[in-house]
Amino acid sequence: MKITELECKVANGDRINAEEARALYRDAPTHVLGGLANGIRRRKHPDSTVTYIIDRNVNYTNVCVAKCNFCAFYREVGSAEGYVLATEEIFRKIDETIEVGGVQLLLQGGHNPDLPLEWYEDLFRAVKARYPEFRLHALSPPEVIHISRMSRLDVGEVIDRLIAAGLDSIPGGGAEILVDRVRRLLHCYDKATADEWLDVMRQAHRRGLRTTATMMYGTVETPAERIEHMMRVRDLQDETGGFTAFITWSYQPEHTELGGFEATGVEYLRTLAIARIVLDNFDSLQASWVTQGGKVGQLSLAFGANDMGSVMIEENVVRAAGASYCMDEVEIVRNVEDAGFVAKRRNMHYDILGDPFFRAHEVKRMLQLSTARQAGDTSVPSELVNYPARSAAGKKQRSQPPTSPVA
Ligand code: SF4
Repeated sequence: MKITELECKVANGDRINAEEARALYRDAPTHVLGGLANGIRRRKHPDSTVTYIIDRNVNYTNVCVAKCNFCAFYREVGSAEGYVLATEEIFRKIDETIEVGGVQLLLQGGHNPDLPLEWYEDLFRAVKARYPEFRLHALSPPEVIHISRMSRLDVGEVIDRLIAAGLDSIPGGGAEILVDRVRRLLHCYDKATADEWLDVMRQAHRRGLRTTATMMYGTVETPAERIEHMMRVRDLQDETGGFTAFITWSYQPEHTELGGFEATGVEYLRTLAIARIVLDNFDSLQASWVTQGGKVGQLSLAFGANDMGSVMIEENVVRAAGASYCMDEVEIVRNVEDAGFVAKRRNMHYDILGDPFFRAHEVKRMLQLSTARQAGDTSVPSELVNYPARSAAGKKQRSQPPTSPVA
């Protein structure tokens, strides 16, 4: 089929197949792709609203046995730079989040062999006991699989226990590219195969949890494999309807074992646009300003995105790989409104919570994203002694007196 025929097909609201998506992604001029994606966004969100959420992106540990070669964030078991956050540190982060209008934590971390399922359950219960209305968007599918393997429970049982402890939804991290050839090359096949990632989401959706789907592109995959990834999440969305949104971002190469170059802004916008076209059963697509910066983030609103993602407050993973963009609520709203849209706060289910928080409250400007810990803080949470460690380094650490966090 010619590109002009595919344009008509998409403009008419018809679904395209993988071959057609590959042709559009490869051959359609960028303005055509953007125009088609923008048309879909306008059909799905005719009221010119662009949403965002105020939340905090907290990484509870950087210790990880998965060792993905595109990751600059993780530290090996026993590393002096490895950390686990104390419950009190997480409470402090939640207090700061609520102060600026935040409603949830995006809580993700490394695959730490010394944190058993009970540690997560106790943390979630403690958060919910202290902040009953606060939401936990926590533990990507590979983390759920890691906990399931460590606890020798099946994935469904782990999800049930986490829901009982306070889990509200699952973020779509760890998807990278849902093609096993690529996952093997990225050393992330062992943490979760494509089928395993999708099955965690399927099981979460069956239990009533809403989740997001992501795609990190620009490592070793082909354009056809990006389309295959989109087809796989579209199929699962047809089956369950449980995804709230799709988020794509480019691989950040600095300080990684894999190295290489970051994809350009145009490649990002083309990828976002083709995702908007392919994922006809997704209501929302987020702009990834954290990896692309505010200016490309703003342009994303003309290439299919209807959501600016999260104010974020804190970021550790992307920063470790070289990107350090920061936008507080004021800056996000400025970008949204300058592009001709109406900015509204939302929750994890994309329900509108209201107008920008800073317009009705005194909020300090945030010109830099926080980090997990202050530099030089090597404290070990005292409560870790309550949980058995598996690794030799973890056992040794827990036999020593605990140290307090830096005040
Ligand atoms: S991407 Fe996640 S699972 Fe992979 S090494 Fe980094 S922290 Fe570990």
